[in-house]
Amino acid sequence: MRDQDSVIASRYSRQILLPSLGLAGQRSLAEGRALIVGVGGLGSWVAELLARAGVGFLRLVDPDKVDLTNIHRQALYTEADAERHRPKVEAAAARIKEINAGVTVEPVMASVDRTNIAGLAAGVGVLIDGTDNFAARYLINDYAVKFAVPWVFAGVIRSEAQVMTILPGRTACLRCILESPPPPCEDPNCRTAGVLGPAVAAVASLQAIEAVKILAGRTESVLPYLLKVDYWGNRAQQVSTTGVAKRPDCPCCGRKDFDFLEP
Ligand SMILES: [Zn+2]
Repeated sequence: MRDQDSVIASRYSRQILLPSLGLAGQRSLAEGRALIVGVGGLGSWVAELLARAGVGFLRLVDPDKVDLTNIHRQALYTEADAERHRPKVEAAAARIKEINAGVTVEPVMASVDRTNIAGLAAGVGVLIDGTDNFAARYLINDYAVKFAVPWVFAGVIRSEAQVMTILPGRTACLRCILESPPPPCEDPNCRTAGVLGPAVAAVASLQAIEAVKILAGRTESVLPYLLKVDYWGNRAQQVSTTGVAKRPDCPCCGRKDFDFLEP
């Protein structure tokens, strides 16, 4: 244990200097476990940042293979991965092991759905939204609230991004803010509406910061609002998610109707 402490103290010395983290916080990160749902634009950046930050276990879930059109916004992948049509989780796991051999990575080539989410989320301390659709986010929200697992929602399209941290029982959940998913025709994605690569990295960095706070046990410091930013239009908006915004009549965290987990 003392040897492990000295490795941690040395490798992460610049991060441990932060009074809000310290050696105890860094130890918590080493024991921390995260599920990253989707390792595309958001999830690949979050995976890289959490691996570099010293989070000890990452379970990566994604059904897709690397394509050349991914590379402008997705960390971890190379042109060689695209040429080989390598599964994203396989390429991501290999790259993460090069970045930080101390991280245990569990790649799962699958889509998350109501039948497998419990197994995939088993034993993790935070769920990271790296998906590109609201159906998956509402499923994650139902699971997270029902089983009291913190999760970090994010979305980015064009140059506009949103990020929100949900601490079940303490903050509003996604359905307090947006009761129902938008219809698929009003749920644009990067393929149909485009996306600014650096905007993806910016919001993914915020997600990673939130995950670090949660895994280090510093939940009092998480974002207390839904943050909406337009990185090109230079606009930001904060929508409170604590206290008043937590709705007693929310179908999920208020009435406990976990519709998206039901068959
Ligand atoms: Zn709610």
